[in-house]
Amino acid sequence: MNSFADKVAKLCLQKYNSLKKTGKPTSNEWTVLSGIVLENINGTLSVVSLTTGTKCLGGSDLLNTEIWERGSRLSDSHAEILARRAFLRYLYDQLDLLLNDQKSDVFALDSTDKIGIKPGILFHFFSTQTPCGDCSIFPKEAKVLDEEINPPAKIRKISALSEASNDSSLITTKKNCRIISDIYRTGAKCVSTEERQDLLEPGINYHVLGSLRTKPGRGDPTLSLSCSDKLAKWNILGVQGSFLSLLIAPLRLESITIGGGSPFSQEAMERGLYKRFGNDVARLKIFQATESFIHLKGTLRTQPCPTSIIWCSVRNRELEVAVEGRKQGATKKRKGNLLLISRRELLRIFLRIIEKYKGIDSEQRHPKKIGYYQFKQWSNLYQEAWKQLRLKKFHAWPTKPLESQDFIL
Ligand SMILES: [Zn+2]
Repeated sequence: MNSFADKVAKLCLQKYNSLKKTGKPTSNEWTVLSGIVLENINGTLSVVSLTTGTKCLGGSDLLNTEIWERGSRLSDSHAEILARRAFLRYLYDQLDLLLNDQKSDVFALDSTDKIGIKPGILFHFFSTQTPCGDCSIFPKEAKVLDEEINPPAKIRKISALSEASNDSSLITTKKNCRIISDIYRTGAKCVSTEERQDLLEPGINYHVLGSLRTKPGRGDPTLSLSCSDKLAKWNILGVQGSFLSLLIAPLRLESITIGGGSPFSQEAMERGLYKRFGNDVARLKIFQATESFIHLKGTLRTQPCPTSIIWCSVRNRELEVAVEGRKQGATKKRKGNLLLISRRELLRIFLRIIEKYKGIDSEQRHPKKIGYYQFKQWSNLYQEAWKQLRLKKFHAWPTKPLESQDFIL
């Protein structure tokens, strides 16, 4: 047991339990919960963003999104992705405090008016299950430690059989008491431009390891990449994204904790988050907690919950509920009723912040007339780092259609 991981898990689960029921699963639904926890210089932990979600829009949903909804509707509502968006909103709120001469828990200005992270501040990621995609592909018996020492009769029998038949789908360990006959599968398909494609053979050869994958889902294929791939990208470029890169240095996560009671493999997590991209990639700490989530998928909870809750530690509108990528209750008549973590609203908040900030070029202060996508390109350092990363390590990462990013405020 890792006591730090349990502290992180407990804090996130307690925060979840304290939120009202709206947007949480019903008795037959499951969901994923993710969050980001701040650790200050004294080692005190506090939750700063917390979200749930299991859904992702298909490609045609996005193409059919009307122009007025561009930048308003979220395509990827997996909890991990929402947690990072809610975290961005938290960071913007912290910047707003700083630039209004109030106390920020995260940021400080130096003598030249540059914004920096306060010393000793760290951020930790939490999720109740392993991220979809590469981190979720591992042998089914990968963590049955008791059975390694004292395997149940059934497994011993198959083990003897596998030696006799030399079946390649059954692997015996050195101790000859653990067998791997199947793997956990992910519904996430390899992206079409990826050289490594799934073999789809029975048993352990179903999946290929290390590929970039799109989000799992039936029917209309999605254009969003799996959470394993997005987390791996943030691990290298930072979680701050392009806009915040205009103001602060890259901000990396220190650790990731997966909740208890859910399949987990240290090896698959390490591979999915950094090892598959080479030895020069930064590493983050990986833990599994023993604390488990009440709304995990299970025999009674068989349906994914269609709604998401989005919470972050900000001064205004801490909690929102989303469905199909929109704020719950939003209609065409109420166009202004947007999620505060939508692209449009995050851009609005960001522009408000740079209005107040003296440390930025005056040219970059009034970019309202240029589109969202063009504005993102102003962040030269970030865009160049992402370009290099795609060339060197993320060759197969697809380019998203620009429609969703083609809007002005
Ligand atoms: Zn996911």
